[in-house]
Amino acid sequence: MNELAEVPTAVWALAGIGIVGIVATLIDLARHDVTQLPRTAWALIIVLVSFPIGAILYLTIGRVPGPRTGRDWRATEEPAAPDHGDGAAPVLRDVEVLDPRHDAPTAGSAVTDAIVTTHDLGKRYGELWALRDVDLRVPRGAIYGLIGPNGAGKTTMLSILAGLRRPTHGHLDVEVARERVGVVVDTPRFEPWLTAVEVVDLARTLTAPDLPAARNSEVLAEVGLEDAADRRVGGFSRGMFQRLGLAAGLVSAPDLLILDEPSSALDPAGRREVLDLIGRLSGTTTVILSTHVLADVQQVCDVVGVIDHGVLRFQGPISELLARTSTAYLLHVRGEAGTLRRTLEDQPWVTELTELAPGRLRIVVSDATEAERAIPTLVAAEGARLAAFTPATDLESAFLELTS
Ligand code: ATP
Repeated sequence: MNELAEVPTAVWALAGIGIVGIVATLIDLARHDVTQLPRTAWALIIVLVSFPIGAILYLTIGRVPGPRTGRDWRATEEPAAPDHGDGAAPVLRDVEVLDPRHDAPTAGSAVTDAIVTTHDLGKRYGELWALRDVDLRVPRGAIYGLIGPNGAGKTTMLSILAGLRRPTHGHLDVEVARERVGVVVDTPRFEPWLTAVEVVDLARTLTAPDLPAARNSEVLAEVGLEDAADRRVGGFSRGMFQRLGLAAGLVSAPDLLILDEPSSALDPAGRREVLDLIGRLSGTTTVILSTHVLADVQQVCDVVGVIDHGVLRFQGPISELLARTSTAYLLHVRGEAGTLRRTLEDQPWVTELTELAPGRLRIVVSDATEAERAIPTLVAAEGARLAAFTPATDLESAFLELTS
């Protein structure tokens, strides 16, 4: 007792401040989401590491600003690869990564045939939100096209799905074992002294050692590199690298294939070959690809997600996206369209008319039924020679309407 009485008042004051500080930090911990470590680990750090070091650690790297949402870090998966996005390595998921054997969260259970589901997924780089509350749903077996302008967040989204970057918040549910996911980045690079077949063999050995070595030449043939199988890849062109990346991603016959801009470096013939290959995977492999090339999406994807400034503006079948946009037609008559053009402009259901070239008109209409009934009649009444009359609502118009 006497010894306690001898403790200087200043020490009591410091101890009091420490206790109050620890309690205040613990209250703050209860009111905010946490990252980097589970909540209990942060509580232990705050209490056990000398005040104020523990509190400062939590406040600087463990506390997620803003009111608590329940989106805590949860260690359910080991890091897979370095984070190429923001330099933070190794990767620790700060989202709930669900085991397919467990119950899916609300968003996942809403779509039973979804192989990939995200809920409220957000990614921040410093002050910039690259993804904002994205709810992605990728149906099993679909070819899903993620489209958006430069900087929209496509690569960030795919990197998160692939486990290469970590989201700032949100839920991610990939119902495929990690070794059954193939990932191809947009500009794949390989050790230059390896031959193409060695690159593919390495990928096979790492991801699907049970598959026979014959699988190597099979996938090299699929991507059109059979003649270059024994060449060192140091001399490969960008397009060849892209094909080789695809072969390395395909060699394990993955259930889910994630492709970032799979045809960006290919010539028109190469692009067609790769798209045909992706199209053939439909039904057996789920493919998620990002691209700027809307024609590619229209050709190969069943489902699209339109992303812009990190916001998913549309998600659904392409047909649904096209149906949302204004209906347009291309009308081609031989020769000049002078009087026919004026007649069409007078129709109440024509909202916009552009003469793309002599005799070639793009007509946007408010009433598709009326337009389809009346336009051929008007062409005949004007004595014009009809060369073509086709729907012209394209993905580009739909895309521009959503993103501009
Ligand atoms: P692009 O089509 O041009 O490849 P994208 O749709 O793939 O673009 P992202 O690469 O995901 O878009 O980038 C989304 C936003 O995040 C951009 O504003 C980009 O500048 C930013 N960003 C991406 N990676 C980082 C990073 N590592 N550090 C900081 N900001 C980043």
